[in-house]
Amino acid sequence: MTNKASSPSSNRLIVALPEMERAALCALCEPVALATGDVLSEPGAPMHYAYFPLSGFVVLETPLRAPLSLSVAMVGNEGMLGATLALGTRIAPLRARVQIGGHALRLGASQLQRELQAHRRLKRMIERYLFVLLTQAPIHAACCHFHEIGQRLACWLLLAQDRAGGRSFHLTHESLADMLGVHRSGVSIAAGLLQREGLIRYARGEIHLLDRQGLEGASCKCYADLLKGASRLFPTGKSEPPPLE
Ligand SMILES: [Zn+2]
Repeated sequence: MTNKASSPSSNRLIVALPEMERAALCALCEPVALATGDVLSEPGAPMHYAYFPLSGFVVLETPLRAPLSLSVAMVGNEGMLGATLALGTRIAPLRARVQIGGHALRLGASQLQRELQAHRRLKRMIERYLFVLLTQAPIHAACCHFHEIGQRLACWLLLAQDRAGGRSFHLTHESLADMLGVHRSGVSIAAGLLQREGLIRYARGEIHLLDRQGLEGASCKCYADLLKGASRLFPTGKSEPPPLE
């Protein structure tokens, strides 16, 4: 692993680990490429691996009546897929689908569970991340129910950029509709509005974020709330996050 895209330092959860736990974890991980559309877990099925994304991102979704599904969370280089392994179960709670391809570090579910037994501080950190996900779930639920599609689209685009990096990425109408739980026509209208306001440029699935500050203004307050919750537990610039208690 030589470049930044495949370096453990690209994952903020790994970076936040104490040195001993970080070294033990990284020694067991293997770098893998994640292709857009890959399904990494299905609800109710055993998880075989845990993933620490380094680039791109994965959406966690709850399948509804086929082919509908609703995205309820996004996992990128701020976290991990498979945090529920820390609860002692290997059953996946949600479908995990790669939304934007990239790279990740991967280790076997049983390997991670053995490490969690041996390294209490690793377990604490993953529990902390689970806590963040738990606090974010009701924000996503309320957002989906109460906020306008345009606000939600702005929110998801900001979350996507935070994880995928850069100002441009590929997201089709269909994948945006899945993420927002709306019809494609709703996405077209909302994206058209953001485009007319000069906040994005969107053509043939390529989205360019033109005005991040403007998008933050167009988003519902959920984006700020999601960031606030995560930064309380994983403050930037500190290697030792504050205790949960
Ligand atoms: Zn919202």
